[in-house]
Amino acid sequence: MFAGYRRKAHSLQNYNDKGSFVELVNLKVAQDTASFAEAVQRGLGKNQGLYFPTDIPKLDNLDALLSQPFVERSITVLRTLIGNELEAETLENIVRTAFAFPAPLTPVTDNIYSLELFHGPTLAFKDFGGRFMAQTLSAISEGKPITILTATSGDTGAAVAHAFHGIDNINVVILFPKGKISPLQEKLFTTLGGNIHAVAIDGDFDACQTLVKTAFDDADVREGLHLNSANSINISRLLAQVCYYFEAVSQVPASKRDNLVVSVPSGNFGNLTAGMIAKAMGLPVKRFIAATNINDTVPRYLQSNDWAPKPTQATMSNAMDVSQPNNWPRIEALMQKGYIDKACLTGTAVDEEYTHLALRQLAQLGYTSEPHAAVAYRALSHDLKDDETGIFLGTAHPAKFRETVENALGQPISLPPELKAVASKESLAESLSDDYAALKAFMLEKLGK
Ligand SMILES: *Cc1c(COP(=O)(O)O)cnc(C)c1O
Repeated sequence: MFAGYRRKAHSLQNYNDKGSFVELVNLKVAQDTASFAEAVQRGLGKNQGLYFPTDIPKLDNLDALLSQPFVERSITVLRTLIGNELEAETLENIVRTAFAFPAPLTPVTDNIYSLELFHGPTLAFKDFGGRFMAQTLSAISEGKPITILTATSGDTGAAVAHAFHGIDNINVVILFPKGKISPLQEKLFTTLGGNIHAVAIDGDFDACQTLVKTAFDDADVREGLHLNSANSINISRLLAQVCYYFEAVSQVPASKRDNLVVSVPSGNFGNLTAGMIAKAMGLPVKRFIAATNINDTVPRYLQSNDWAPKPTQATMSNAMDVSQPNNWPRIEALMQKGYIDKACLTGTAVDEEYTHLALRQLAQLGYTSEPHAAVAYRALSHDLKDDETGIFLGTAHPAKFRETVENALGQPISLPPELKAVASKESLAESLSDDYAALKAFMLEKLGK
């Protein structure tokens, strides 16, 4: 049934077709299928599994596609993955609004490039997925009110807040641990106002997450305010991220496209999953490197076939301090379903000392980077063969990790205008104790109508 539907979807004629996603639970069992809109609205499947495309079609005319502009090409890529569920004009508006900034490929050495994914409003690659999800949710909810409730320890809060800022009928409540986020990080999501409500909780990140869970278990709040988590496992984010892998290859000179190696700094492995979906669709990438910090569950697993997470350790590349990556089942599915050969993926763990060294080596090459990208650069430069061309993903702007970068380089780096502007603004965050009753009262009063 789905194969037939895909052939139709490809011709872009029939807008009655639904996107089709299947829930992965133990990988062998298709637990629940959903349309694209349902998968985006639900986040997790009915059995707490991750959604995954029922089919990943190959694109034809790749050269022509690669020569198109980013937005135009991204519409084709997304149309192929989600079917004809969104009208052409709707999808185009979503993509144009979400991808309103470039993803330049910058040469670092003769055969290594950095794909800079940090030119969005919060200076990290999460802007791509966050903004696409926000625009999509807004389009498919057709004006019905939604409340996004999320807890953040930094990065994701900023991306979500900016992505939803100013969207009608969607309110966002962001809980964060009071005094435990760098002041600049905090200002990226507490100074927006409007439909963005930042709440400082007297407690740690776990306390914030517990409050979020309690709210989702409370029917008054869940139903009354139409809660949605908009979290990082949402399928819409992943699909958006597929697009910038095509954008990367489009900027590689045609003569160097044969032996491409992409190194992905990985934490929850969403970014790598997106890259592998792009390869499954026909993007010419020879192989991927899963680059991690010392939280190395995946590199060890790829070596030994033994899934043995250890306690998470804090590192400089803190967005990758994850020992149980929640997107891994999607990568397993790509391999089990035969879209990706296991041999196309290796893993490399980079410790703190080598991350420091990589930051300094990059600076010597005239390229200021940050710890996450440095992990990926180290893994790549260590592994790249003479006949290969390498790309590592620059997932955040160096200024977001200013202290670490300045320490490693022994010299100051400048702040980009986005951060300078926000540093002088006043925080609009409210403060609450670590108490669910107080949060509930706050939310129902502010948002319930
Ligand atoms: C989130 C994040 C990562 C990890 O990405 P995953 O998709 O979770 O693997 C890497 N670098 C930065 C800067 C991030 O914010």
